[in-house]
Amino acid sequence: MTFDLTPEQDQLRDAVRALGRRYGHGYFVEKAKAGEHTTELWAEAGRLGYLGVNIPTEYGGGGGGITELAIVCEELAAAGCPLLLLVVSPAIAATVLNRHGTEEQRKRHLPGLADGSQKIVFAITEPEAGSNFHRLGTVARRDGDGWLLSGRKCYISGVDEAGHVLVVARTEDSSTGKLKPALFLVPTDAAGLTRSKLDMEIVSPENQFLLYLDDVRLPADALLGESLDAGLPALFAGLNPERITVAAMGAGTGRYAIERASEYTATRKVWGGRSIGSHQGVSHPLAHAAVQVELARLMIQKAATLYDAGRDLEAGVAGNMAKYAAGEAAALAVDTAVQVLGGAGMTTEYGVATLLGAVRAGRIAPVSREMILNFVAQHVLGQDKSY
Ligand SMILES: Cc1cc2nc3c(=O)[nH]c(=O)nc-3n(C[C@H](O)[C@H](O)[C@H](O)COP(=O)(O)OP(=O)(O)OC[C@H]3O[C@@H](n4cnc5c(N)ncnc54)[C@H](O)[C@@H]3O)c2cc1C
Repeated sequence: MTFDLTPEQDQLRDAVRALGRRYGHGYFVEKAKAGEHTTELWAEAGRLGYLGVNIPTEYGGGGGGITELAIVCEELAAAGCPLLLLVVSPAIAATVLNRHGTEEQRKRHLPGLADGSQKIVFAITEPEAGSNFHRLGTVARRDGDGWLLSGRKCYISGVDEAGHVLVVARTEDSSTGKLKPALFLVPTDAAGLTRSKLDMEIVSPENQFLLYLDDVRLPADALLGESLDAGLPALFAGLNPERITVAAMGAGTGRYAIERASEYTATRKVWGGRSIGSHQGVSHPLAHAAVQVELARLMIQKAATLYDAGRDLEAGVAGNMAKYAAGEAAALAVDTAVQVLGGAGMTTEYGVATLLGAVRAGRIAPVSREMILNFVAQHVLGQDKSY
């Protein structure tokens, strides 16, 4: 067992940290408040190869794994730039395409995902189905050689920045008559696809949308994979990378908040010569949050290592636990940072309250803490399902 990164992973961590710090949280917040995107940061990260670290070299990527992508997610977040689209485009979409797309789909999309010139976002959540994906109502019907897609999706991140949305729909299986999942690569400018931006209480340059699919006509090759049978494994293929990278983003955000707070409490003096950090009522909550973040990081490392070793089932358990732990730790760290900064904690200038919405959302999305507890209760503890 080793807790050390390889020299290449160490170099990646240092390089991504340097890039993130050059932009910083001030840049992230400025873009969010101006209603703009972090276009420059994304483009530079793409040029430097950080967005494609997990994509095979033959498609222009770095040939690494989810361990490397988790490093990118964590370090950018630790610099105050938690980019949710890293979880959606390189983690989910690139993995799904690489593992289950056709060769033609891989060739068409992966190079653009690797260099950052293309983004593919992911749409599964629906207003009626919510956490219960078995109730998905977006339906794909045969239309000659192609498909017609109809349905509604909600909270879909980054549609305004992406060339395609990977839409999870359901079709009828002609052999069994049962409905089964199928994934479609839908161009964001397809006729019949409309969107409306949701007002979210999150300071973020990335937006969420309601999507309406009204008989969106798609060619045959918009179906991800060689046949309808690719749908279910493709859907599952995205889950572990999603959980691991979102956890890494949470851990990075937690580190960022604790670092900001520790700098402040070590120097702020309101009772004579002692810093406020000398009071254990201030330092212990920070130390407690630091322990929680570090524990989450260990679980992320375990999950990513298992995933990259091809041990998907074990990675599923570890990835869910990592996501749970990191979501809770990030929320605790940011809340604690706000508290120990006092009034300064609520200002934009000190750059911690600006993360409250994001870390709160991290306990709900992309999978809620309750659904993870359900997973652990059922799959690890052998409990019956209540739903
Ligand atoms: C910032 C943000 C970005 C997002 N981006 C995307 C995206 O890009 N693509 C996408 O497809 N979706 C996205 N989502 C949606 C997200 O994945 C869902 O919000 C999440 O899965 C929860 O679904 P829901 O909101 O419908 O909640 P519901 O399913 O309505 O659940 C509401 C509450 O009830 C709890 N609950 C539900 N069922 C159970 C149960 N059986 N046991 C215990 N508790 C239960 C939930 O945990 C939750 O606390 C995003 C959401 C947010 C907030």
